Order: sequence, then structure tokens, then C-alpha cells
Amino acid sequence: MVNVPKELEYEYLLDRLYELLPEQAKAPARFEMPRAAVEVHGKSTVIRNAAQLCQVFRRDLDHFFRFITKELGTTGAVEGGAVRLKGRFGPATVQRKVEQYAREFVLCPICGKPDTHFIELRGVRMLKCEACGAVSPVPEV
Ligand SMILES: [Zn+2]
Repeated sequence: MVNVPKELEYEYLLDRLYELLPEQAKAPARFEMPRAAVEVHGKSTVIRNAAQLCQVFRRDLDHFFRFITKELGTTGAVEGGAVRLKGRFGPATVQRKVEQYAREFVLCPICGKPDTHFIELRGVRMLKCEACGAVSPVPEV
């Protein structure tokens, strides 16, 4: 049994390191809602950065696509990293739906953090929070 001096114990070092971190590094990063880049072309609306939005949300583009077409009561297509919707929808309308998507499928309802993923619980899709561990129901899409 080797006697390690307290100054070299792993836990002690971690504590010391944490104390030395600037306050900002300790505080959880506030989630910044991404903005949809929306263009209306003739009779259709294109969300140019749909893939980027999904990257921030860490969700499948297909899932987001199903949500937004259902919510706006239209059809459309995934075109590369963009989503084309049939019909004209203003940027504010699209943005509201993007924020609704984040609230319903990304942000933890308990702690508000975006570090979540889907799990299946007895065949039901749930939202599992990696930050606080909460498991919450999510709507079907
Ligand atoms: Zn949480």
C-alpha cells in the first residue's frame, strides 16, 4: 500500500482544477435558439438551413420534416440539407414552428437543457435528458 500525499490524490487535483476554472466555464451554456433561414420562391417555401437546425438539435432531418409539414398542414420534400414546403410561409411562422420543435422534442422540460436524446420505453418514444436524467413524454409525429 503506497501512501499518496493528499496533494496528489486524483479527487483533490480535480477539485483544485475546478476551483481554478473561470466562472463562465462552470455555468451551463445557455441554449441559443437557432434561426431558420427561410426563402419564399413562387408557391413554395424553402428552409435553407434545415440540416443545420437539426445538427444543433441533434435530431434527424426526416423527423423535423415530418413535424413541420404536419404542423403547417402541407407537403414538401427534403432537398439536400434544405426543406421545401408547398405553399408560402413567412419566416416568423417557420421560426415559431422551429421553436415549438425545440420545446417539444429537444429541450428537457425539467431542466431546460438541450442535451437530450430519444429512447424507447415499452414501445413508447420518450425524451431522455443527459444533463438531469429526466425521462419525459414526447408527442408522436
Ligand atoms: Zn434535464
